[in-house]
Order: sequence, then structure tokens, then C-alpha cells
Amino acid sequence: MSTTETSAGSCPATAANRFGLDYRAEAQRLGPPVVPIIDAHAHINGAEAATLYREVCDLYGVELTFSQTQLAQAEGVKNAMGERIRFVAVPEYTSHDPAHAHTQGYMDNITAWHGLGARMLKFWCGPRGRDMMKYHGLDPKLVTLDHPWRRKQMDHAASLDMAFMVHIADPDTWFESKYTDSAWYGTKAEQYDALERLGEEYPRLWLIAHMGGWPEDLGFLSGFLDRHPNFVIDTSATKWMVRELSKHPTDELLGFLNRFAGRVLYGSDIVTMDEHLTDEAGPRDMGTQASSRQEAFDLYASRYYAYRTMLETGRTGESPIADPDLHMIDPDRHDEMSAPTLTGHALPESTLRTLYRGACEGTILKWYDEH
Ligand SMILES: [Zn+2]
Repeated sequence: MSTTETSAGSCPATAANRFGLDYRAEAQRLGPPVVPIIDAHAHINGAEAATLYREVCDLYGVELTFSQTQLAQAEGVKNAMGERIRFVAVPEYTSHDPAHAHTQGYMDNITAWHGLGARMLKFWCGPRGRDMMKYHGLDPKLVTLDHPWRRKQMDHAASLDMAFMVHIADPDTWFESKYTDSAWYGTKAEQYDALERLGEEYPRLWLIAHMGGWPEDLGFLSGFLDRHPNFVIDTSATKWMVRELSKHPTDELLGFLNRFAGRVLYGSDIVTMDEHLTDEAGPRDMGTQASSRQEAFDLYASRYYAYRTMLETGRTGESPIADPDLHMIDPDRHDEMSAPTLTGHALPESTLRTLYRGACEGTILKWYDEH
């Protein structure tokens, strides 16, 4: 966005708000979405942060959120969000005992989450999981999808009739920079071997996060979705998706979304935590992207603002959200506050209705209601 086209304020620029926009005014300018949005992928933690997040949802027309919440935070988040939240089971990522958290601890959490209404569980399989497990002195393959413990967790979740969710791959930019040791991390294509096999072995509903992990390659995704009718994908990871989905010509993106209508779910990947609201440091490994109520508001609102601007409007310009991957790939041309072009694709209303709501209603929400 150029600042002349927006309600730029006088706030200092931050990574979530490079132009000092008033995200409340911008929400008014966008108006309500064509249908109330269901966000199929977020991480809502913290009772206070969840209350702030709910205000962002009200402003941007988000009615229901599927959240990968930390178990200890479930009650506070539920109190803040009420019927507007559904839980997705996750392991205790921030545990001080990761050896337990990713093995029997997750087995126990799956049972507990099922009791709290979760009907889907998440397997995070980012290639850097190998580094994290090695750091803790654990089997580097512990968080790969076909590890025996993961299989046990799959069997347990299947016995509870839960759907599966997977984070299988990271951006191409990461494979071009931090994952160049393919003997250790595997190539990007190799990340999919176990997923394609297990998707057939467990013929239930699978949600593959972040446009299946490969928003850069709609051709690959088309074959992937054709091969696995039980797979659906979500659009979560706003920075990554704004960067890559902006690069596709509108007719190609629209062709893909229409061809797979009902199998591409809207998701933001917004992460909220109470630590965002103060200047105290956040939990380890989670990073702290905000240190005041205003910064937290901007962090959460920026994701819906950027996404809705890209999908609904014809406004093309620099993204208001800094994308450090640009600096990582090309430090001569970019700094940490650089941002990619955000392309306004101005998608038709019928496509937006399905993406924002219909796809989730027909898959994940249906699964939750029926199991
Ligand atoms: Zn996520």
C-alpha cells in the first residue's frame, strides 16, 4: 500500500505495521467480508490476549477460530472466546521435558484435548525439528511424520476418530538458505514421501497447513490434491502466503482456488499470548513480536488486514508487514523491515465465500460436528 491510499497514522513503524496504519480504521474501510470468516488455523493463547484477539475478529469479520492452544491455556481462552473457538490438539511445545512432551505426554494430551472437544490433532514436522530434537539430545527424527511415536499418536487419535493436521514443509526461501544440507534436512520434495504414504494408510480427513507447505508451486499442489482426495489445505502463515500468493497471476490463483473449491480453507496462523501485551519476555522459543497492547493489536490485526486486502481488493503495493525472509535471501537489497509486494487479487465473491467459510463448513467443521 502506498501511504497515500491508506489511513496512515503517526505511530512509529513496526514489523507488523510498517506504515503506521490505523488497523481499526482500515477494517471499517474494508467493511464486512462477504460471509463471516472461519479461521481454520491460529494459535490463541492467554486470556487477555484472547480478549484482544476477539476484538480483532469482530473488526475483520472472523466468526469462528480453530486454535492450536497450549493445554494449560485452554480454560482462559475458552472463557474469553466462548462458542467462537474450537480446539485442535497439539503437544506441549514449550515443555521443559520435550522427551516426554513429544512421546507419552502427547498421547495423554490427545486424550485430554478430545475431552475438551478437539476432533483434530496436529503433527508439526518442520525440517528444523531435527535441530530442535538434537539440541535436546533426542532422536532427530522424533518429530518426523513416520517416527514410531508419531504412528502411535496417529493410532490413538484414529481410535478417537480425530482428523489429522500436518505442517510438513517450510518456505522455498528456507530450503535455499538454512536447509541447504539436504542430507540432514531432506530436500523439500522428500518431506512429502511419508505424508503421501500415510495419507493412504490412514484414509481420513487430513488438513495440510500452509497451502500444503508449497504455495510457491500450484502445479505440485494440484497433483498432490488430485492424488489424495482425503486431503484439504489451509492458507495459514500470512507473511509467507502474502509473499508467494502475490506472485501468482490472478487468473492462475483463481483457477487453482476454483478447481479445488471446498478443499482450500482460510487460515491466518495468528499467534496470541499474554506476553505480547507487556514488555516482559515471552516463553522461550516462541519469540516476542509485540511488547504492548497496541503492538499486540497491530500484530493480530495486520494478518487479517493484509490477507483481506490481497484477496478482496485490487490494491497492490508493498505489504504493511515486514518479511525477514527477503533479507535472509538477499541481504544486499533488503533489510529486516523490507516487505514484498502485496497483490490485490480482487477475487470474485463466490470464490471468497467458499474460501472464507464454505470449505471449512464442509470439511473440518462438519467433522467436528459429526464426531
Ligand atoms: Zn500454525
